[in-house]
Amino acid sequence: MGKEYHVAVVGATGAVGTRMIELLAETSLPIASVRLLASKRSAGQEIQFKGQPLIVEELVPESFEGIDLALFSAGGSISEKFAPEAVKRGAVVVDNTSHFRMAKDVPLVVPEVNPEALKNHQGIIANPNCSTIQMMVALEPIRQAFGLERIIVSTYQAVSGAGIRAINELKEQAEDFLEGKPVSEWSAEILPAGSDEKHYPITYEEWKMMNETKKIMGDNKLKVVATCVRIPVISGHSESVYIEVKQADASVSAIQELMAQAPGVILQDEPSEQLYPQALNSVNQKETFVGRIRQDVDVKNGFHLWIVSDNLLKGAAWNSVQIAETLHEMNLLRVPEND
Ligand code: NAP
Repeated sequence: MGKEYHVAVVGATGAVGTRMIELLAETSLPIASVRLLASKRSAGQEIQFKGQPLIVEELVPESFEGIDLALFSAGGSISEKFAPEAVKRGAVVVDNTSHFRMAKDVPLVVPEVNPEALKNHQGIIANPNCSTIQMMVALEPIRQAFGLERIIVSTYQAVSGAGIRAINELKEQAEDFLEGKPVSEWSAEILPAGSDEKHYPITYEEWKMMNETKKIMGDNKLKVVATCVRIPVISGHSESVYIEVKQADASVSAIQELMAQAPGVILQDEPSEQLYPQALNSVNQKETFVGRIRQDVDVKNGFHLWIVSDNLLKGAAWNSVQIAETLHEMNLLRVPEND
């Protein structure tokens, strides 16, 4: 029998972590055991895995003894401190936070786009930002066919990208709205609201999209600019993407054909039948939905696309589990020093 892996989920009670546990229950990855880790607050909590109750444990460095694979999604500072502890004990880390993404020796991977980058891993692999991932899945086949000169993207991001507390806050705000409370009395501690300070993370999101796109596509000359906006939707990020391609022979029908065949992409582009990607329909789906593909009116090599995906799945938990499956398939699910 082949190797079966001992897997740890760090941030097991979170918006991303809970989806990871669901995906691990159905993965093709051979799993021997699953260890659920979170803060002291949630230690002792029971979570079902394949019909069995698992008890959440408090994260400590020793949590990684005997672990082969650790999926992290508990925030950047937790990854900074504990990912090296996991690697030291022989675990390969797939990290959902932004902490290691731009580090030179850390592959930043979307399995449909750059799986070969996994070959250089030193124990830690970074999962890109949710908004970046769905854009990469759709644009890489276009880049391969026609070359990419420029990307201008505007996002319409769901609140679940900011975690469980943000989801709860939107629900509370919806109740406040229905009760007719004035906006000044709505609870607003997590989501971007009025103050400059609360706009800052959004600006950072824009930098993430720009830098990560260049790293994943391996093209530092690519012109990328992003404007990121949070909207009152629970899950499903939408993106309006304008691209300029290098080759003159690109057309709407050629791009539609590419999207219809691209791995991980579903083409939904029949506006006359009101078929186009919608955030609501992307929820609980692993794929990225692409539609509303139009040629720019003035720029011959310019095209517009509407790209939608479930930020908690392809944008986070599914991309991480898919990285783990790909590592296994490529026989890379081990820390190089521990060979
Ligand atoms: P979340 O819903 O707020 O969950 C946070 C998780 O981290 C919880 O399980 C929490 O456990 C745990 N945690 C917090 N402090 C901890 C500590 N000191 N020690 C151990 N565990 C701790 O957040 P999320 O949305 O799942 O996101 C988690 C990370 O993934 C963030 O870095 C985020 O940027 C990244 N990410 C999120 C998305 C997304 O779409 N949501 C996408 C990509 C990446 P307790 O229950 O004990 O508090």
